[in-house]
Amino acid sequence: MRKSIIVAICAVVMSATALFAQNQSVIASAGNAAGTVEGQSYRDETLRVDLMLSGSSSSVSVSLRSMSVTDGWYGRRCNLSTTPVKGNGEILLVDSSSGETVYASSFSTVFQEWLATDEARTVSKSFENTFLLPMPLAKSSLILRLFDNRGDVMCENVFPVDPDDILIERKARSDVRSKYIHRGGDPARCIDVAIIAEGYGPSEKGKFFKDAGTAAEAILSHEPFKKYSSLFNFIAIFKESEDSGVSVPREGTWKRTAVGSHFDTFYMDRYLTTSHVFAVHDLLSGFPYEHLVILANTDVYGGGGIYNSYTLTTAHHKLFKPVVVHEFGHSFGALADEYDYDNPADPYYVPSCEPWEQNITTMCLEPGCSKAPAISRKESGDRLKTAGCAPTLRMLSVLCARGLWSG
Ligand SMILES: [Zn+2]
Repeated sequence: MRKSIIVAICAVVMSATALFAQNQSVIASAGNAAGTVEGQSYRDETLRVDLMLSGSSSSVSVSLRSMSVTDGWYGRRCNLSTTPVKGNGEILLVDSSSGETVYASSFSTVFQEWLATDEARTVSKSFENTFLLPMPLAKSSLILRLFDNRGDVMCENVFPVDPDDILIERKARSDVRSKYIHRGGDPARCIDVAIIAEGYGPSEKGKFFKDAGTAAEAILSHEPFKKYSSLFNFIAIFKESEDSGVSVPREGTWKRTAVGSHFDTFYMDRYLTTSHVFAVHDLLSGFPYEHLVILANTDVYGGGGIYNSYTLTTAHHKLFKPVVVHEFGHSFGALADEYDYDNPADPYYVPSCEPWEQNITTMCLEPGCSKAPAISRKESGDRLKTAGCAPTLRMLSVLCARGLWSG
């Protein structure tokens, strides 16, 4: 989520323990073989739901673009009805007869980040979002909720799901080149990460697979990924782009690339995203995947990571390795940046509300403040030093797991 800032890299790596603490259900479920859960309420198929999130800061709506299905379910297979963190939104599958929750997942969106910008006060826009769910056995309701920055529901919509609906398109496997970079085991029991080529020309296939290997190696070199490497699969997906490199709008450069990514998202230089989310998932159709890492073939610094959506980063900047780990911390682990932003009145967080992200807090360290925690400023500073962070006033307001938070 949000833009990359170099100073945050050490903190994100350091917070990897927090990342897994909040994803225990995900880890626990990886390792359960297909069809072993008693009373299983879903088919061994993936239901892909394409939604449009639309509106402005004053009015938001969710509408259905399409549903499709592919063979195999590669997400978690237990703890299906709960989510490890709240997220900025949640999606639920509820059995229409029993009322029981078949599946629940939380997420964040670029759309909600955009809602916090000045532009959203005067303009209405639509953003693509794709969600992957296990196909339910019986007729169900798909419930989509978006939360505001206080955690309250700002938008909810319900869509019927009939697993036998003839208009749910059965999609074939995408015609792209693929290669397993790291194979921990059976996709049914592992966390499956797809690494996607963006801006690699026809002659750059080998270069991409090498970069994909570097990305997987960087992630798996850190604990606790390293410890759980046998529960991860990394599959590299190559589709050539017409042009080499990616779009840099501030330079007037627009390129024809596999997933149409560009820098300058929200007019921020280093924020690299793609608005063509449906195209990303089209590339992956039929492959086993749950999490996405898109590698951009450029040495321009930048990237982004959105919880349970995707990581996008640049493969040839000198900080490629730590940045891909940083962004994966956002998209896989739901970690927030550990630094404050240039604008002290960041509309994304409300000082009176604790964020749902497990590695930050809005608690205040000023003596006498009602949000002050039961820990001294000196003690929290010492913990940050021990954790390898340089304690600054700015960081003291947004602390990592080994500082203020873990106590
Ligand atoms: Zn970040």
